[in-house]
Amino acid sequence: MKYGIDIGHNCSPDIGAKGIRQEDGMTMEVGTKVIFKLKALGHQVVECKPSRASSVGNSLQQRCYIANTNNVDVMVSIHFNSFNKQANGAEVFAISDTGRSIAKRILDNIVKLGYFNRGVKEGSHLYVVRNANAPTVLVECCFCDSKPDMDRYDAEALATAIVKGLTGQVSPTPDFDEKTTILEVQQALNRLKIRDDNGKPVVEDGSVDNETNAAIKNFQKIVGITETGIAGPTTWLAIKQILAKPILRPNHAAGTTVKYLQYRLGIEADGIYGAGTEAAVEKFQKQNGLTADGNVGPMTWAKLIG
Ligand SMILES: [Zn+2]
Repeated sequence: MKYGIDIGHNCSPDIGAKGIRQEDGMTMEVGTKVIFKLKALGHQVVECKPSRASSVGNSLQQRCYIANTNNVDVMVSIHFNSFNKQANGAEVFAISDTGRSIAKRILDNIVKLGYFNRGVKEGSHLYVVRNANAPTVLVECCFCDSKPDMDRYDAEALATAIVKGLTGQVSPTPDFDEKTTILEVQQALNRLKIRDDNGKPVVEDGSVDNETNAAIKNFQKIVGITETGIAGPTTWLAIKQILAKPILRPNHAAGTTVKYLQYRLGIEADGIYGAGTEAAVEKFQKQNGLTADGNVGPMTWAKLIG
């Protein structure tokens, strides 16, 4: 199948609604994951969002033009709703019979995540639904100005629901989305104060470059995993272990997180929280105005990684 995926808005002056979270950020996040998952399942994907537009009308026109000239089989436009802070839930718009059946499958899967079911709705007032040649659905995942909806927001789960609705399948790689994970890795490296070979923070742009590879390698060296320069599942797991800020106590803690701690304290990285590490932690705590108890808890982690 060839899917046209239209990440809503994100093309000034075509910008999304602003609520508790911004629609633009969420459509980008969910849409990127949908694209990755569809590709992982072996489908063709045409990305319909233009890179620039002269007006909102022009932005919408280009989205349909891209879908139509690429002869996509199905077009999916991803959006988030906004109304009066009270309205909540998911709704999907379509006009054709095929569109409505696709819309229902997507909606059923989103509703399973706990969102209120607002139904499949008539979409003839929506530009992309009306002007794309292929059966088209416009998904309003939930409301960006509704607190319960935003509390429930999970891009990974929404993307999985949309892809399951479209294909009946779940992508085999739910947790490792190459594109967003590189951005997440870059953000994490900077938060962990891991630098490239020139001692500089990496640029958080979601694309792999020499500096990012070097910083990943440096992190791998610090925590003692194979220095590939590529952030695979093992590296990401190590990053997540540190970002989870586990409480580290003398004579109890060992492993990746302790190695990272020792690196930050500038002491020998043997990965074991013994007396030497305890002394260094107490010194660090004193320097940072904390109780010098040698236990690395939330306050100490906050000084280390924010
Ligand atoms: Zn929208």
